[in-house]
Amino acid sequence: MNSQLQTFSQGLNKEELLEKDRSYMWHHMSQYNPNPMIATESKGAWITDVDGNRYLDGMSGLWCVNIGYGRQELADAAYEQLKSLAYFPLTQSHVPGIRLAEKVSEWLGDEYRVFFSNSGSEANEVAFKIARQYHHQKGQPGRFKFISRHRAYHGNTMGALAATGQAVRKQKYEPLAPGFLHTAPPYCYRCPFGKTYGSCNLECAQVFDEVINWEGAETVAGVIMEPTITGGGVIVPPPEYLPKVREICDKLGVLLIIDEVICGFGRSGRKFGHQNFGVKPDIVTMAKGITSGYLPLSATAVRADIADCFNEPGTNRHFRHVNTFGGNPAACALAVKNMELIEEEGLVERAEQLGVALREKIRVIENHPNVGDIRTFGLICGIEMVENRDIKQPAEPDKVTKVIAESKKRGLIIGRNGDTVPGFNNVLTIAPPFATTDEDLEFIVRIVKEAFDTL
Ligand code: PMP
Repeated sequence: MNSQLQTFSQGLNKEELLEKDRSYMWHHMSQYNPNPMIATESKGAWITDVDGNRYLDGMSGLWCVNIGYGRQELADAAYEQLKSLAYFPLTQSHVPGIRLAEKVSEWLGDEYRVFFSNSGSEANEVAFKIARQYHHQKGQPGRFKFISRHRAYHGNTMGALAATGQAVRKQKYEPLAPGFLHTAPPYCYRCPFGKTYGSCNLECAQVFDEVINWEGAETVAGVIMEPTITGGGVIVPPPEYLPKVREICDKLGVLLIIDEVICGFGRSGRKFGHQNFGVKPDIVTMAKGITSGYLPLSATAVRADIADCFNEPGTNRHFRHVNTFGGNPAACALAVKNMELIEEEGLVERAEQLGVALREKIRVIENHPNVGDIRTFGLICGIEMVENRDIKQPAEPDKVTKVIAESKKRGLIIGRNGDTVPGFNNVLTIAPPFATTDEDLEFIVRIVKEAFDTL
């Protein structure tokens, strides 16, 4: 342990730390976690735990450490900003906030106005509120509903969780915010419409037309979707899907909100995930990779012509929403530096290259009897595990757990799709930092193969 860490841990050994953890810590997701990994240090794509074991972080934390760990430049950017101006609310303005809003707008390739918050969930809540108010101000106050997809995850707050299409995450917390509906995902491996891509009519996109009309288009405010469903099982849509949804939204006067919380900031092999499909969203939400996870920050970018209708002086049309910490100056300064480094070091291109290489190399497990489907989107890989390839019966949960545990034993952290539908918790996820080296990539593939070989 280095000396700074000694100070933080007050000289406590692992057992003592664990005892305090059990007494005082309420863990996310799994409250009862008697033996959590206690991480202490990190560099590049690697994390070290309190015992000195090293792990390649094949999930970039929670899909967020895009640039990789241990970048001094990011720490310096935050440190310098904390010394000069640690806090100022965005009811007024500050320089790093202005620079970041401009940069996000530039990366989106169009004029967007950017509202800062703290988390992906909050960014989505802001999008919902802006969409509803926009319709009010356009003389259509009856438009309040949002349509999303089953299996999607959009956050943990009462609106963002309502938009989430994963029953198990919601059941004990209902009633959630009203007005959220779900359609089937564009899931070609298990097409909800019983079709095969290539000979289908893109029913998964067309269904938005039907649902919006059945609900009454004059009651629908927006559609929210990720460019690719990530946490819900890496469900990559066909290339025509997003353009088709865009067309339907335009026709029916519905706003298209794209959730870039995971897919943004290079993860998809483009600056933003939707740029792979040539569509222009009305609202874009982002978090995680905006600071590469180094500090909390999120943003909701709103197309300028939509934002303009909140800007009429002398009217009561402003957006009545404030949060204390959103757009903290140090977080913004760090985010600007993060984006500059991603540009200067060509890391979007690097993520794309790594994604292509991973797609190619991971084929070593393609014929394993428990591998049903492998899906990739940029530097995101999902391996859908099955018991039986012919009938695509999802793998027993223990088998999925075993691959994860065997990987961890060998020094690789990989993930799994969250609670979707009971029995469908069967997609392994891999999304390493862009700092992953060629040797690191070989390591990932070798360990995943070894882990599958233990089944
Ligand atoms: N949207 C998506 C697509 C996400 O993956 C997440 C978090 N995993 C969120 C929203 C919510 O972000 P946060 O956890 O920062 O609230």
